[in-house]
Amino acid sequence: MRTWGVLAALVTLLSLATGTGARAFVEPEPARWPACPCGPQSIPAGEPVTGPRPAGHTGLPNPAQGRYLVGTPDDPLAGFSRRPLDRFMVPAGGTFLDPLHLDPHYGVDYTYPDDYLAGKTLWVHPIGPGYVTARSACLLCFVEGDAQGRTTYKLPRYNFGFGAFILVETPYTSDVSIYTMYAHLARDFASLGDYVHPDEIIGVAGNTGYSENVHVHVEVRYGRPGRFWNADFTQWATLDRWMAMMFVNPAWLVFPENHGLMILALDKYITEQPRPTDIP
Ligand SMILES: [Zn+2]
Repeated sequence: MRTWGVLAALVTLLSLATGTGARAFVEPEPARWPACPCGPQSIPAGEPVTGPRPAGHTGLPNPAQGRYLVGTPDDPLAGFSRRPLDRFMVPAGGTFLDPLHLDPHYGVDYTYPDDYLAGKTLWVHPIGPGYVTARSACLLCFVEGDAQGRTTYKLPRYNFGFGAFILVETPYTSDVSIYTMYAHLARDFASLGDYVHPDEIIGVAGNTGYSENVHVHVEVRYGRPGRFWNADFTQWATLDRWMAMMFVNPAWLVFPENHGLMILALDKYITEQPRPTDIP
């Protein structure tokens, strides 16, 4: 009997030493980023929308249609001022419209290689407030691996390479919305229609879709509101619509000193867009 006791103790010691057994779930660290210097943003209820609302096949109205973004009197975009990861780092291959990418690259890739190589989780925050207007868990983002568990080949055709993503719509006025995409996620913590805020964690940076290392691809576009509510990004029509939107460097929103540039672009878009009422 005594032998069994010793054996059990040995097994316990061994499993402790090798770290086998269930891995403890690591709680997300509380947000370390200091609060926006502009103070908390107030988001009062927006103007009611008249006329038909765009609806996806859920049949639910797009929640981004109901409220408009209100920042501070000085900066309507004051709610945007956060990095998607807690610290700031853009890898060499992650610059906006990077010529090293085979195709034009319309976003910025954020990552911390040392952290993911050390097995740390890269929590993703939205860079500004908004509503989840489309998402994909990308169950079909297959990867081919070799015997050592390394990724050898990925099929980029699902979601055209975005993999699992969250698309957040931030209404600026009734004429224009800002769309922010967070792509290649390992997982997300958001549902369609959720209101998300920069202090929240919306997902985990991953390697899904057409991606060669763990990172989050952040792509910012703007245009007519409600164009991507519950949109299916496995369809060419959706991709065409997405690519036809105006795009900007996410740095226009991440750094408050650039908000003026973004506001100019949005106001220009509002003045230049024909409205149905303008057509006789
Ligand atoms: Zn990218």
